[in-house]
Amino acid sequence: MRMKRTMAALAGATLALSLAACGDDDGGDSPATVEENPEFESGTTMAELAEAGTVTIGTKFDQPGFGLLGLGDEPEGFDVEVAKIIAGALGIAEDDIDWEESPSELREQLIEDGTVDFVVATYTINDERKQRISFAGPYYNAGQMLMVQSDNDTITGPDDLKANPDQKVCSVTGSTPAENIKQYLANADQLVLFDVYDKCADAMEDNQVQVVTTDNVILAGFVSESDGEFKLVGEQFTEEPYGIGIKKGDVEFCEFINQTLQENEDAYLEAWDSTAGQIEGTERPELPEPDPCT
Ligand code: GLU
Repeated sequence: MRMKRTMAALAGATLALSLAACGDDDGGDSPATVEENPEFESGTTMAELAEAGTVTIGTKFDQPGFGLLGLGDEPEGFDVEVAKIIAGALGIAEDDIDWEESPSELREQLIEDGTVDFVVATYTINDERKQRISFAGPYYNAGQMLMVQSDNDTITGPDDLKANPDQKVCSVTGSTPAENIKQYLANADQLVLFDVYDKCADAMEDNQVQVVTTDNVILAGFVSESDGEFKLVGEQFTEEPYGIGIKKGDVEFCEFINQTLQENEDAYLEAWDSTAGQIEGTERPELPEPDPCT
């Protein structure tokens, strides 16, 4: 599996290179526009970041299509490109972004303690998380599903899990799918938790777990890398609106991010097409209406 992943990463790198070759003429392969000397009211997060000329962004490093650190120095994926659109509106080019791996369980903490300026990391907006941080967006609507080995005919959806306690289900600590799946399980031992999803995919490859559960688009990325070994089963059974995590109560930054995405819808769609849109079974989204900033 690890070997196959490396091959997939290589294929991804080749694709990125060929996209760069026909991309814009600033030499980058990102659809993001970098504003020249944008002006912001002093004291705002936007003014601070624009002045610094650099930004630290939290994303995933293990999720094909959304945030994946392959052989290159920088992660690739839809979340990464959405983040670059926001950085670009602050006048910050991709070379001046520091990427911080942000596993599901650590996201709130990384925002709270200032390790990152914002997080774009398949991050579901919910009330519990809003106790600690704020969200701009949503910028994408995902939903939870199950992934199994292709020859698994026992599990066809979450309702089959209780009757099959020997089918171990893997997810990630601190994620919404890990919480939500509990109601479908026979007992607590049926759930196996890691810190990142590619460990679940490796465990299923080794038959240590039989099911992986998280958002449909994340699973679709693992299916596409599995060489036919994994498949998705059943229907989406939750709604997971993805937001951009920022410091709690930073309404101005939230509004700036929402406005930036609305104004850059073409770049947003291009970002999708060149990343998650390449994965079989994914559908080009429409940019959702943002929630009010609080
Ligand atoms: N969207 C879900 C969440 O934020 C699952 C994906 C993830 O763990 O990043 O918990």
